[in-house]
Amino acid sequence: MFLKGCPLDCPWCSNPESKDKDPQIMFNPNLCIDCKKCIEICPNNAVDFNLRGRIVRDKCNLCMECVDHCYSKALSIEGIEGSVEELLFELNKDRIHYRRSNGGITFSGGEALYQSDFLLELLKGCKANGWHTTIETAGYYPKETLEKIIPWTDLFLYDIKMIDDGKHKKVIGVSNKRILANAKFAAASSADLVVRTPIIPGFNDDKESVSEIAEFALDLKGVKRIDILPYHRLGEDKYYGLGQKYQMKDIESPSNEKMEQIKELIIKKGIDCTIGGVE
Ligand code: SF4
Ligand code: SF4
Repeated sequence: MFLKGCPLDCPWCSNPESKDKDPQIMFNPNLCIDCKKCIEICPNNAVDFNLRGRIVRDKCNLCMECVDHCYSKALSIEGIEGSVEELLFELNKDRIHYRRSNGGITFSGGEALYQSDFLLELLKGCKANGWHTTIETAGYYPKETLEKIIPWTDLFLYDIKMIDDGKHKKVIGVSNKRILANAKFAAASSADLVVRTPIIPGFNDDKESVSEIAEFALDLKGVKRIDILPYHRLGEDKYYGLGQKYQMKDIESPSNEKMEQIKELIIKKGIDCTIGGVE
C-alpha cells in the first residue's frame, strides 16, 4: 500500500505521484483521444493543450470535473482519502492470499511514516488480524515517530543511499544523520531489517560509496542483507503527466555487469546481497 507524502526529494524517485501529500491529477497522452471534453468542462480555465502535463496546476482546484468526464481515462486522480477502517476493509479482501503465501502487507510511499499516526492505526489493525507487516522507509523523521511504529512492525526495508553527508545533502537536499541514527535504532529493535540501496550512476555506484554502505550495514545489529536496486527510468512519463520536470533524463540504468560487480563487492565485505531483493 502506497501512502502519499515524502520529506525527501530524490531526483530518481520512480513514484513522483507519492511525493506530494495531496491528491494530484495525472495526464496520460497515450490514452487521450483529443475529444476536448476536459477543456469544455473545466470551470477554472485550468486545462491547456499546450502543456505536456495538460493542467495549469495553480489554477486547478481539484474539482475533478475533467477526470469524471474523461471517458478514455487519460486524466486520473493520484491519491484518495480514506479512513483506517475503509483501508482495512479493502486489505481484508486479500486475507486468504496473505495466509496462503505467508505474506502480509507492505506499506510504502512516498515515505510510509510521513502519515505516521494514520500508519500506526493501520499497523494495529493488521496485527489484530494476524498479518505480517513490512515498512519500506527512507528513515527521515524524529526517533519518537519510529519508536511508536516499531512494536507493530515485523520487517523494515530501510533505504540507505549514501554515507557521505555532504554528497547526501547536495543531491537529496537533507543531511543523512537522522536517517543513519534511525537505522541503528530500528536494526536494534525486535523488527527485522534489510538495507535497500538504489544504485544511481554518478551518485553512489563507485567503490567507495558502496563500501561505506556495506560497512555501515555490517555494523547494524541484526541486519539481514543489502538489496541493491538498479536505477531505472520507468517513472519518467509520470513526471511529465504531473506537469513536472524529470531531472535524470541523461542518466542510463547501470548494466547487469556493473550490478554484479557491486554485489560481489558487498558480499566480500561480509554481508549478504541481492540484486532487486529476489534471487
Ligand atoms: S477529456 Fe480526456 S480524452 Fe478528452 S481531450 Fe481531455 S484528456 Fe483527452
Ligand atoms: S480538476 Fe477541475 S479545476 Fe482542475 S483542471 Fe480539472 S476541471 Fe479544471
